[in-house]
Amino acid sequence: MAKKLVILGSGESGTGAAILAQQQGFEVFVSDKGKIRDSYKHELSSRGIAFEEGKHSMDIILAADEIIKSPGIQEKYDVMKQIRAANKIVVGEIEFAWRYCKGKVVAITGSNGKSTCTSLTYHMMKKAGCDVAIGGNIGKSFAELVAHTNHEYYVLEVSNFQLDDAVTFKPMISVLLNITPDHLDSYNYEFQKYIDSKFRITMNQTDGDHFIYCADDPVTSEEMLKRHSPFLSNPANLLTFTLDDRQHEGAWVADNSIHIQINKNHFTMTINELALQGKHNQYNSMAAGIVGKVLGLKNESIRESFTDFSGLEHRLEFVAKVHGISFINDSKATNINSTWYALESQADPVIWIVGGIDKGNDYSLIADLVKKKVKAIVCLGKDNTRIHEAFGKMVDILVNTETMEDCVQMAYRLGKNGDIVLLSPACASFDLFENFEDRGNQFKKQVRLL
Ligand code: ADP
Repeated sequence: MAKKLVILGSGESGTGAAILAQQQGFEVFVSDKGKIRDSYKHELSSRGIAFEEGKHSMDIILAADEIIKSPGIQEKYDVMKQIRAANKIVVGEIEFAWRYCKGKVVAITGSNGKSTCTSLTYHMMKKAGCDVAIGGNIGKSFAELVAHTNHEYYVLEVSNFQLDDAVTFKPMISVLLNITPDHLDSYNYEFQKYIDSKFRITMNQTDGDHFIYCADDPVTSEEMLKRHSPFLSNPANLLTFTLDDRQHEGAWVADNSIHIQINKNHFTMTINELALQGKHNQYNSMAAGIVGKVLGLKNESIRESFTDFSGLEHRLEFVAKVHGISFINDSKATNINSTWYALESQADPVIWIVGGIDKGNDYSLIADLVKKKVKAIVCLGKDNTRIHEAFGKMVDILVNTETMEDCVQMAYRLGKNGDIVLLSPACASFDLFENFEDRGNQFKKQVRLL
């Protein structure tokens, strides 16, 4: 008799898992407490996969041989409490897909830069002629990719939630870009738990695998010291990237160029030639470049891909110049760390658009940058109290707005030739917008109407 598999959640990962599970001969049931998007419902019904929405039928769920949990389903939800109490086997979609994946996996995680680095890595590998697909927390789910394709390589963006539900997942190359506090509400406000979750990307790696991380990131470095004492060494090959002028195996910056060296094989490229600008993107480029060198890609194709990569929407995306004022959309910046890099990379006076749902920001971390770079602040959120408290005495002009139209009009009025209007909110968008894409799209629309 076919094994019974229940899938919790029917977004990109749940639906992907259902497709793969059916293909592998399981009896599949999908359960979603919310509303399932029409496109996913169509995917399920066209394949004859049973599903429910708006409820969790516990009798069916608890009768399953195994449960696959989408990354959005939290342990604190009642359904998970009941499943744990019944001692059921639960795995994540990435883990499930891994069982059936015949290709090699390059997995990329971090608090910021995952999508950028994953897309750049994919672009680089594709350009170099690799047989590669991209997915995970970006684009198609890993499970759907595994169900429908058979590539030599899979470049995956993986989130902390996806790693939490991984068990045997073992990337050939893993990248940890950085760790700064995020999603702490899901970890009982214990930062260490979030750190542990990120480090799960390395947990099954063995000799012959590679672990790439940022030597400048204090949290990662400290954790490495704890974990990799001579008595507890990581069997994977460790490779680091840094902005320090320090030659070593791995990547560094010197003479206004990035350098990558693996097995004495050297790659260098000037920073000005990189399509992705800003210090954070030097990190992203170095991390991707190390992957390229580990895979033995030609320097020429790495260089070419780093020059012509077009960047991602809503990440420091240049929108337009209106009467000499440049408008930049960094709507994806939903925490302080990403906004730090956005401000850091600006050379001209900034009119900064900030605000939304504050996930516990420590604004003192960017106070120096704000003093140096920001001439006016336009708040865009329902409650801007914390922003006023943090910067009220630091910046002469600080105004509140509650619609994108008012916000862009106000920023435009405050600007003059040579200024930059930067939407880098450091906050989530749900108070006024559907999501960060909606916020960025509305920004671009209003700028184009000026
Ligand atoms: P993620 O997928 O991890 O959310 P993105 O690539 O979508 O990361 O970028 C999110 C935000 O972080 C953007 O505002 C972007 O400009 C900024 N960012 C990108 N790379 C980095 C990095 N390495 N460190 C800090 N911030 C970054």
